[in-house]
Amino acid sequence: MRVLVVEDERVLADAIATGLRREAMAVDVAYDGAAALEKTGYIDYDVIVLDRDLPRVHGDEVARRLVAQRSASRIIMLTAAGDVDDKVEGLEIGADDYLAKPFVFMELVARVRALGRRSAPPLPPVLERAGIRLDPGKRQVTRDGAEIHLTKKEFAVLEELMRAEGAVVSQEDLLDKAWDENIDPFTNVVRVTMMTLRKKLGDPPVIETVPGVGYRL
Ligand code: CA
Repeated sequence: MRVLVVEDERVLADAIATGLRREAMAVDVAYDGAAALEKTGYIDYDVIVLDRDLPRVHGDEVARRLVAQRSASRIIMLTAAGDVDDKVEGLEIGADDYLAKPFVFMELVARVRALGRRSAPPLPPVLERAGIRLDPGKRQVTRDGAEIHLTKKEFAVLEELMRAEGAVVSQEDLLDKAWDENIDPFTNVVRVTMMTLRKKLGDPPVIETVPGVGYRL
């Protein structure tokens, strides 16, 4: 899942990003509204955590523009004020959810996950395919009932392959969804991660390489 955190309080922004990365999400950060709009111009985020009170371009305006562009990204708005009027306004502008500061971090995680599921075509929260069962909420993978311990990136790659439901997923798509913008697009991390993931998943092999196109499960 690819997430953009937009928050001008840098310490808070970085803390949210670090916390979401621990949940195996790929997270980028923007410290103002203009930077957020620039990033959303070329990256399709599943979820945008959007602070309302932002410098340069206000959070409300960021949300309005995303809605006007028919962005598929789901927006959760953060605001300092917890009163009902703020919530209603935020939702009218086009936010999908709303969280008042201060918030409990696990609540933000749960809501981001719920929104991420809505941004994809509706799928059961637990993914199952070829004897493999992946539970994004518990970060748990089993094959024929036996638990498999994966790194965050291996987990994210497997999740994308399972979400594709048998369609081929390109290396670019995997980089987009499982890594963040700091990754060198010419890196071989996808190949390396695929190798360790395959080894952990065991035999018979379930991930197929489609030469020149990508991977399929
Ligand atoms: Ca702010």
